[in-house]
Amino acid sequence: MERVLLVRYAEIHLKGLNRPFFERLLVDRIKQALAPLAARVEREQGRIFVYGIGEEQLAESMDKLCRVFGIHSISPACCVEKDWEAIRNAAVSEAKPFADANAHLTFKCFARRSDKRFPMTSEQLCRELGHELLEAYPNLAVDVHQPELKITVEIRQQNAFVYTNEIPGAGGMPVGSNGKAMLLISGGIDSPVAGYMIAKRGVLLDAVHFYSYPYTSERARDKVIELTKLVSRYAGTINLYLVPFTDIQLTIYDKCPSTETTVLMRRLMMKIAERIAKDTGSLALITGESIGQVASQTIESLCVTDDAVSMPVFRPLIGFDKEEIIEKAQRIGTFETSILPYEDCCTVFVPKHPVTKPKVDRLRESEALVDFEPMIEEAIGKTEKMIIR
Ligand code: ATP
Ligand code: MG
Repeated sequence: MERVLLVRYAEIHLKGLNRPFFERLLVDRIKQALAPLAARVEREQGRIFVYGIGEEQLAESMDKLCRVFGIHSISPACCVEKDWEAIRNAAVSEAKPFADANAHLTFKCFARRSDKRFPMTSEQLCRELGHELLEAYPNLAVDVHQPELKITVEIRQQNAFVYTNEIPGAGGMPVGSNGKAMLLISGGIDSPVAGYMIAKRGVLLDAVHFYSYPYTSERARDKVIELTKLVSRYAGTINLYLVPFTDIQLTIYDKCPSTETTVLMRRLMMKIAERIAKDTGSLALITGESIGQVASQTIESLCVTDDAVSMPVFRPLIGFDKEEIIEKAQRIGTFETSILPYEDCCTVFVPKHPVTKPKVDRLRESEALVDFEPMIEEAIGKTEKMIIR
């Protein structure tokens, strides 16, 4: 009797000619997630099986697999020969801990045969297993409507599998199945969540962060590195580009209308991010903006920001309330780090009365007051690349 993790993936994304590509990629992602362990990962007919995970590694492995995009659900199962006796014994032993732990327990058996050559029908299997379990554990009772314990048998090509539990996976598509995009990551709550959401759709992430020494500290930078690391638990390896932004920020402050500094800063960030993205194979930019959250996120401001670049800008949080974003950040585990109180370059340089309805033409003019090109070049030249995993 061997232990195995039975991994289901969302079929809907895997139809047609691309299916083998998705499947292979998902197998690779699972192997990477479990890397140091000697797990064997195999695919068979719309399922992936992970063999060789010992009982003591089970919790950690499940934790890691629950962060792999493309997985619909996972069942730790017992893998046996396609033989009635073996299946019965497995079902009895799988049910044992539950039967032992409860004075009374209701259950129901489920059976699925993808190998129709198996001599018993699904119905027969369920019925017979039900009898066996009632005999083995007098404290069990059948409830076909709301069973407390569900025992499932799957008869597949090679083996039979028996399990009692189906744990939801992260959903989405395997990272790398949908190209690469550049996340603008601040130290805030929103951008890590935005990165998570796009990675979930199968997009590989790179990230760029703008810092303003000495106005922002080393600790603020470490916080961004830590946040990127937390996102990489889902998104896989992320190249993080750290861009020195102090000169540009001071120049904007010095030379441009004070009400427009934030929007101008946003435009310059987008421009630099787009250049790095183009040089490194990203096809879109990602931000954590949502309509109306702050002055620089009114529709007018977003239009002005978009006008600075030609690449598509993905804003997956655009229609989310702050509360919903916080809830998501808590769920993916970035919230606690995001709320550490280190200053961000946006907060250091906020104008007292920012424009809330900036006009594109007007902002282009203000930007043209300074020749930013050499400063952009210099910032990119001094950009530091870190590989986060
Ligand atoms: P967040 O919680 O992500 O910081 P926010 O609500 O504080 O977002 P802003 O500070 O206006 O919003 O930033 C909007 C978006 O611009 C961020 O979600 C992020 O994508 C990007 N951004 C802001 N500051 C930086 C920075 N220093 N480096 C890289 N990207 C940034
Ligand atoms: Mg911010």
